[in-house]
Amino acid sequence: MSSTLEPNTVTPPRIRQTGILIGDEFRPSVSGKTFATVNPATEEVICQVAEGDAADVDLAVHAARAAFETGPWSRMDARDRGRLLNRLADLAESHIDELAALETLDNGKPISDARAADLPLAIDCLRYYAGWADKVHGQTIPVRGDYFCYTRREPIGVCGQIIPWNFPLLMVAWKWGPALATGNTIVMKPAEQTPLSCLRLAELALEAGFPPGVINVVPGYGPTAGAALVRHPQVDKIAFTGEGTTAKIIMKEASETLKRLTFELGGKSPNIVFADADLDAAIAGAEFGLFFNQGQCCCAGSRLFVEESVHDEFVERIAKRASQRVLGNPFDPETQQGPQVDQAQFDKIMRYIDRGQAQGAQCQAGGRRRGNRGYFVEPTVFSNVTDQMDIAREEIFGPVMSILKFRDIDEVTRRANNTAFGLAAAVWTRDVKKAHQMSHALRAGTVWVNCYDVFDAGAPFGGFKMSGIGRECGEAGLANYTELKTVTMAMK
Ligand code: ADP
Repeated sequence: MSSTLEPNTVTPPRIRQTGILIGDEFRPSVSGKTFATVNPATEEVICQVAEGDAADVDLAVHAARAAFETGPWSRMDARDRGRLLNRLADLAESHIDELAALETLDNGKPISDARAADLPLAIDCLRYYAGWADKVHGQTIPVRGDYFCYTRREPIGVCGQIIPWNFPLLMVAWKWGPALATGNTIVMKPAEQTPLSCLRLAELALEAGFPPGVINVVPGYGPTAGAALVRHPQVDKIAFTGEGTTAKIIMKEASETLKRLTFELGGKSPNIVFADADLDAAIAGAEFGLFFNQGQCCCAGSRLFVEESVHDEFVERIAKRASQRVLGNPFDPETQQGPQVDQAQFDKIMRYIDRGQAQGAQCQAGGRRRGNRGYFVEPTVFSNVTDQMDIAREEIFGPVMSILKFRDIDEVTRRANNTAFGLAAAVWTRDVKKAHQMSHALRAGTVWVNCYDVFDAGAPFGGFKMSGIGRECGEAGLANYTELKTVTMAMK
């Protein structure tokens, strides 16, 4: 925990849960092993957490299977599932300060962001899906002959959910909300960097009254705990958010048992500023769209295309804003940018900054580490970036902005789409026609117009191309947690 807290800072919370949740019990791992979770602002160990592997996953899957097949959950009215989700949302809300502080402690994100974005969005998502619980239904179908034909939407079964560290609790809510609303049971593996808030929310879920085994949480590493979940024959579906390289491994492993798969992966999202845009808004949006969450967003606007005639002014102004961002102790409510999540991410980002410089991009702001303790990287802006440079092609997942110049709408559309990714995109313009043309032409799961990173539990989110399979949030998010059953009955 931070040993040098300044007077105005928020106090880090007490850690209550570090065990593996199986059924209704938090326990040590079968192997007795633990792993350290580290405060990225200080590089100090926060605490040890039980390290689950195949044996723990097996126990958790059996608990989830039993809850799915024979427990009270399997007989519960849909409306009562909704009530439980609402109760969990209420408990999360009454513990909002504690949960936000856990996010900041374990992930390093500014407390003001955790409090204003992560927690409200997570709570809203739980409530949104609570409302869906009794509204998922099938159809009656006028088939030929004397038959009564109808469909039912049934839960898939035991869902393995594997999440990353960038929005720990929000990812929990995106995964638990639709899975629970539709009657599935869950074995979740949180990211090894950030297990604490998920474990605390799981404890609150027990308090809310979710029956034992409906939600199980196995903290641990990807290649051990994660892989065991993917391979387990009693797991029906894997919902994964993380890197494309991991998704490919999961797809191969899951092919043995033909599990249902949904993936939310990386991006290299184009953020396109036309000369006719409200430049003040575009500059503020470009800053937010890239630097929010230390640049650790799969949908970060990391290819910033700016039209030639406003390019130089734009570069100058955004570089100034970047260098004025308040970087520091994430528990200080004034802080805008905290540390990166861990040493590995920090090293990767610094390598990209070096490569950007080596390949001829111009560093207009930042470019260095801040301080010598904690994984702080200065907000960095590169101009003169070309499409072939590594910093324009690969996901950096850090506070590194790449600015590319363009001349006209056809050119920018082609260049924006020239990527293996397709998660998000944004367009800044006052021309309505151009806004619609671009929204249709961009090959991405989400297009923001004159805004960036606007999320809502009701709005589907997910990727085209190598950015993912399936959608989370909205009604679309429910489809990935149900099997469609057709019932045909003879009427004569
Ligand atoms: P990130 O760079 O965001 O950490 P990863 O894809 O490595 O992206 O990790 C996302 C999640 O996937 C984490 O919970 C991690 O432990 C898990 N994971 C990593 N490797 C595997 C694997 N081989 N099988 C299953 N899960 C994995």
